[in-house]
Amino acid sequence: MHDVINPATEEVIATVRPTSAEETDEAIVRAHEAWPSWRSVAPGERATLLRRFSDVVRDHAEELAQLEVANAGHTIGNARWEANNVANVLAYYAGAPERLFGRQIPVPGGIDMTFQEPIGVVGIIVPWNFPMPIAGWGFAPALAAGCTVVLKPAEVTPLTAIRLGELALEAGIPEHVLSILPGKGSVVGQRFVEHPLVRKIVFTGSTEVGEQIMAGAARQVKRVTLELGGKSANIVFADADLEKAAAAAPYGVFDNAGQDCCARSRILVQRSALDRFMELFEAAVAGVRVEDPTLETSEMGPLITRSHFETVAGFVPDDAPVAFRGTCPTGPGYWFPPTVLSPVAPGDRSFREEIFGPVVSVTSFEDEDEAIRLANATDFGLSGSIWTRDIGRGLRVSRGVETGTLSVNSHSSVRYWTPFGGFKKSGLGRELGPDALDAFTETKNVFINTED
Ligand code: NAP
Ligand code: MG
Repeated sequence: MHDVINPATEEVIATVRPTSAEETDEAIVRAHEAWPSWRSVAPGERATLLRRFSDVVRDHAEELAQLEVANAGHTIGNARWEANNVANVLAYYAGAPERLFGRQIPVPGGIDMTFQEPIGVVGIIVPWNFPMPIAGWGFAPALAAGCTVVLKPAEVTPLTAIRLGELALEAGIPEHVLSILPGKGSVVGQRFVEHPLVRKIVFTGSTEVGEQIMAGAARQVKRVTLELGGKSANIVFADADLEKAAAAAPYGVFDNAGQDCCARSRILVQRSALDRFMELFEAAVAGVRVEDPTLETSEMGPLITRSHFETVAGFVPDDAPVAFRGTCPTGPGYWFPPTVLSPVAPGDRSFREEIFGPVVSVTSFEDEDEAIRLANATDFGLSGSIWTRDIGRGLRVSRGVETGTLSVNSHSSVRYWTPFGGFKKSGLGRELGPDALDAFTETKNVFINTED
């Protein structure tokens, strides 16, 4: 049995029985058996079921949010957004079954057409940092495309996924179409990779495990979508609205206690504006409310586990160049204060490695070229922000930075209408937006001879 712990209190809040390898195989077979009838549900009816699923999730958004606050230490404000994000993503992809068009292509001698065929059983492996949205970004388009799904939540944060599985049944999604299998990555996740009836893996998590999954999937030429780590840059030019840029900067990196693959964990500031920016940024960091995540005012909660706390703390040794820190509660819970390191050189560990905690490195640059070069001096390429009043510069730098999702004069990364995913070691493929359906379908071409 696995004890589920509240990271803000260190109390055990639930006990979950991990799924065994044999049970995982059985669930995969059930999902495979459920596939033919799910894929043949008429498009309009599949759309109705997904809309109903969306409505049921929205009706339970508060319950789901409270569960996430207790399980993952997310602030109640964030957790409500996350639960509603699942409902929104389901509603968005409910529009897909009726619009999953093929093409008719002019060819000599007959008629040529294409079909978008569902890929089969999809295995979704979810991390602990955003348990609800990341699950929804996988299962909503997969179900819409006519695939069936087996989903493994992170061992430490299984509760909302288990509840979403129950709500799917309540909404009328047939049994074995969406199965939630809590358990270990090395058991359940590993079976998804090895079992030949799983035709596609959607994995979000560390680059290290992502590489293993890609290598394992290669043996069966199994399709993969990978959302991995990040080391995104927040680039602040001297011509920006510095007050706004500094006020927003904490939320670009400390949201979810920095446990966000899109965290802007490197702030690059044009040298002529550095002193002024740091002055404003210090005040902004001091104002971040790190407190009991159940409070409506809370802006940041604890880290997820004791061991993750130790990892993050390892990036701030006694001789670290701490410029300033915010505050956090003392007592039980894995609390880590917002921490700003400066100056940090591009070769330093805290500049290169994903910390996945509330620790940000500040580095200065001279001009646009150097800003782009520093932003790209990483193996990752997921997200990033550019602050400038010059729209031409905003576009030039956006084109120059090698990442999948950029934002000018804001820190938004995830909008469910638009594609999300990484360059370089940040991943492979795109989730959300109109592109996601491609990840769950194969294009089939059919030619009909009309001449003889
Ligand atoms: P992780 O090991 O990559 O875990 C992510 C998911 O993969 C979990 O569900 C995990 O299961 C599963 N998994 C682990 N090993 C597996 C395997 N061999 N085969 C199949 N599935 C497997 O991430 P982590 O250990 O939780 O976090 C480590 C670091 O990864 C973080 O500090 C952060 O830098 C990065 N990370 C990035 C993201 C992101 O959004 N890109 C998310 C989470 C973590 P278990 O629950 O059993 O571990
Ligand atoms: Mg791990």
